[in-house]
Amino acid sequence: MHKKIIIVGAGPAGVGMACLLKRCKVDAIILDQGRIGESFLSWPKEMRFISPSFTGNFFGAVDLNAITPDSSPAFGLQTEHPTGAEYAQYLRDIVEHYELDVREHTKVMKIETQKPFRLHTKKELFTCDYLIWAGGEFQFPTHIPHTTRIRDYSALPRTKHIIIGGAESGIDAAYHLTRRGDEVVVLDKSAPWNERYSDSSYGLSPYSLDRLRAIQETGLATFIDEHATEITQDHVQTENHTFSATFPALNATGFDMKKSLAGELFTITDGYPEITEHDESTKVPGVFLVGPRVRHEGAIFCFIYKFRQRFGVVAKRILASHHPSIAEYADKGFLLEDLSCCGNECEC
Ligand SMILES: Cc1cc2nc3c(=O)[nH]c(=O)nc-3n(C[C@H](O)[C@H](O)[C@H](O)COP(=O)(O)OP(=O)(O)OC[C@H]3O[C@@H](n4cnc5c(N)ncnc54)[C@H](O)[C@@H]3O)c2cc1C
Repeated sequence: MHKKIIIVGAGPAGVGMACLLKRCKVDAIILDQGRIGESFLSWPKEMRFISPSFTGNFFGAVDLNAITPDSSPAFGLQTEHPTGAEYAQYLRDIVEHYELDVREHTKVMKIETQKPFRLHTKKELFTCDYLIWAGGEFQFPTHIPHTTRIRDYSALPRTKHIIIGGAESGIDAAYHLTRRGDEVVVLDKSAPWNERYSDSSYGLSPYSLDRLRAIQETGLATFIDEHATEITQDHVQTENHTFSATFPALNATGFDMKKSLAGELFTITDGYPEITEHDESTKVPGVFLVGPRVRHEGAIFCFIYKFRQRFGVVAKRILASHHPSIAEYADKGFLLEDLSCCGNECEC
């Protein structure tokens, strides 16, 4: 099957991008190896959104977790901090509303990068003129031997847990485990619990800071600003401490995009794909990146309310014209081209 545009990934980046293309009447299809919102469906069931949803659309402040200017997870889901399953439902509702062409359970296994691009799946060969990579990062976690990823807090044994990584996921783990009465040790040399930034791409979000205070009140958590230097089945070693472990340490150290097909489509430096000012691959022209790994110098687009601001940039580049829908997206903050504003700390 040939399409002008193929999007790989039916998460918020891929679905959001497809909505704008649909409004511009462009022929596009989304392929996903799992279900719509597969990453969110894989979150531990207790995990909730960090960024709040709020029904501000009528006053020109689009819900932070919305992927189109005319929708609001707060309104649709009737909650401020959706669970992963709830957010996946929001994505499914959007797909139905926009009548998007999504092929679930269609894993792209190989991509040939001479034009037209050839995408190999088990079922079918797809070809396209433009490829939008929206494969995300959640499904490609960093691997550390003798550690485990958290899928379900209630399935973890009642013991003292060692958490490797003190950013959002590490704080989430510490919160849930101390709440049920478990002791935790959180290891992270950069000590995010001590840092304060106005950009949550660099430091803990207000939601996690609230939780940090709740964790500290339990007296059950120890925060160590050192990295693990040795991890085995029965102990974790840092520069100055040794912790014995009865259960594998919990890995909250993030993701490795090189493990996905993105590693072949982009030159990846320090974990971020190299892209042009239009978010096009510097390695394979015609391939675009949408999602949390979009980065332009200090501006990191790792939240939905950030990376949605580049949907208009990509659409404008591919369509090489200014469709009225792109102008509408620009008005609603979904087309951020001038990045000079990014990176300034708040005054107060
Ligand atoms: C614990 C946690 C909490 C978070 N909280 C927030 C928050 O509060 N607010 C916020 O804005 N962001 C949050 N994020 C980040 C947010 O989840 C991501 O930024 C977002 O999921 C990225 O969207 P995406 O569409 O790029 O990727 P994903 O949602 O990961 O979607 C990628 C899709 O691509 C598919 N895929 C991958 N490879 C292939 C292939 N080869 N073939 C076919 N399909 C493929 C996958 O199945 C998946 O469905 C959080 C992330 C984590 C891990």
